[in-house]
Amino acid sequence: MNIILLGPPGAGKGTQARKLEEKYGMIQLSTGDMLRASIKKGEPLGLEAKGLMDQGSLVPDALIVSMIEARIDQPDCAKGFILDGFPRTVPQAQALDQMLSLKKKNLDAVIELKVDEAALIERVAGRFTCAKCGEGYHDTFKPTRIDGVCDVCGAKEFSRRSDDNAETMKIRLQAYRDQTAPILPYYEQKGMLKGLDGMAEMTFVFDQLCQLIDSL
Ligand code: AMP
Repeated sequence: MNIILLGPPGAGKGTQARKLEEKYGMIQLSTGDMLRASIKKGEPLGLEAKGLMDQGSLVPDALIVSMIEARIDQPDCAKGFILDGFPRTVPQAQALDQMLSLKKKNLDAVIELKVDEAALIERVAGRFTCAKCGEGYHDTFKPTRIDGVCDVCGAKEFSRRSDDNAETMKIRLQAYRDQTAPILPYYEQKGMLKGLDGMAEMTFVFDQLCQLIDSL
């Protein structure tokens, strides 16, 4: 099964995608994570994207589309994938349609996590992840059980994204409104769009997501 998770930054797409990956064996394809990995490796693609990411703007469609196209061809994607952070513009959505039809793959659903924008800045500004296993935490909503130690793997190193601050978040939300929200009617017209309340407790949102996926 192949699905898209849609929603503004901080809606919980990454958290839910990781849980879905665990439960259903589908692969999470996060374009943001791919770009951050590319920056870490010092690749030209990452270096081209870094300035735009730090500033909260979207990186060019062509760069993202070729990155996803190469990733979708890899064997692990045959089990199904969860797109997290892609597509983010109407041209990206169109490119995805073309790419999937060429590869004879289907899209089963586009699921929007509906959230209250006012809460997102606080959600995003406090988040951090374990540098070793990637488990996500939040200063207020989900601190580690033991201060400075990852609950899952015991590591003591954590990382915070450089674009997870109130200033950049305002630009990222604007980019969502202007460039990403127009893909909602694009999928609605195709009868593929489903919506969920993303403001509920994380495990409740996950249960709702699973029910939706099981009904497809
Ligand atoms: P994310 O981790 O999804 O919040 O993405 C972090 C940043 O990576 C975004 O603010 C953009 O600069 C860039 N990015 C990730 N995915 C895309 C995409 N599909 N199109 C354009 N830019 C993207």
